[in-house]
Amino acid sequence: MEEDYSDWLKAGNIAGEARDYGKKISKPGTPLLEIAEKIESRIAELGGKTAFPVNLSLNHIAAHYTPTLNDQTLYNEGDILKIDVGASYNGAVGDTALTIGNDKELINASKDALAEAIKLCVPGTELRMIGKVIRETINSYNLQSITNLSGHGIARYIVHHGISIPNYDNGDKTKLTNGQTIAIEPFATNGEGQVTEGGVSNIYRLISKRPTRNPIGRKVIDFVNKEYKTLPFAKRWVEKAIPGSAIAFPTLVREGILHSYGQLPERSKGLVSQHEHSILVREKPVIMTLGENSD
Ligand code: MN
Ligand code: MN
Repeated sequence: MEEDYSDWLKAGNIAGEARDYGKKISKPGTPLLEIAEKIESRIAELGGKTAFPVNLSLNHIAAHYTPTLNDQTLYNEGDILKIDVGASYNGAVGDTALTIGNDKELINASKDALAEAIKLCVPGTELRMIGKVIRETINSYNLQSITNLSGHGIARYIVHHGISIPNYDNGDKTKLTNGQTIAIEPFATNGEGQVTEGGVSNIYRLISKRPTRNPIGRKVIDFVNKEYKTLPFAKRWVEKAIPGSAIAFPTLVREGILHSYGQLPERSKGLVSQHEHSILVREKPVIMTLGENSD
C-alpha cells in the first residue's frame, strides 16, 4: 500500500516557510543568535518541531554551525550566509537551505545546480547522474562542487537515512525509486571543493543511553531523549531547559553518549554557497520544501 505522505508535505511546507522567513529577517548587522531563535520560533508557530538546530554557516564554513546562548556573531554586509532549516511533523522531516549575500554568481551556482538535479528526481535515475549534473552546473560558473558533502535519504526521526546523493559523479549506479523521500544539497565554492572538520558546531546528538555517573549528565540524557530522540539538538536548547548543564557536555561526549558535530570549513578557505530541497521521488518530482515566497 502506498504510504500517506501528508506528514512529509506538512513538514516540508513548515521548513520552507521558516527558511524564507529566515531570509527575510537576515539584514546585515543582525546577530546569528536572533536569526536562529526567530526561525526556530517560526517552526513552532507553524505547528512543527525543529528537526535539527538552525544551521547558520558563514563564508568558508560550508555547514554545521549554530549559535551559542551568548553568541555575539553578526551577519555582516559582505558575508555569505547559509541558512539551513529542518522541521519535523510526526517525525517526518523537511530539510532545506538557501544562501544570502552579495556574491550572486556563487549563490546562483548552487541554486541552479539544485534546480537541474531536481529534474532528475524520478524513479530509475542513477545517483551518479544527479552528482554529474550538479558538478557540471557548478563548473559552468567556474566554481567547484564540494565533493565530500552529499544529499541523503530521509526517514521518520532520521535526517540522514539510507542513500547518499553525491555532488559529483561518484560511479554509484543505485537507482531512485518511486515514493522515496530525499534531500538534494549542492554546495558551490571558489576554493578547492573539499570540506574538512573544524571547531565545535554547538550541535549534538544522543547516540547512546548508557548510564553516566554525572548527575547533571543524567538530567541532560533524560531531557534530550524525551524532547529530541535521535534528532540533532543545540546545546543552547538544553542550557535553557537545564541551567548550568553546559558543564556536563564534555563528559557525555567523552563517554560516547553524545556525538558532537564539528563545523565543516572548506579546506582552502574558499567561500561556499548551498541550496537544498527535500524531494518526493515521482514521475513528476515533488519539491516538499517549497515556501510560498520561494524565488
Ligand atoms: Mn540541510
Ligand atoms: Mn540535508
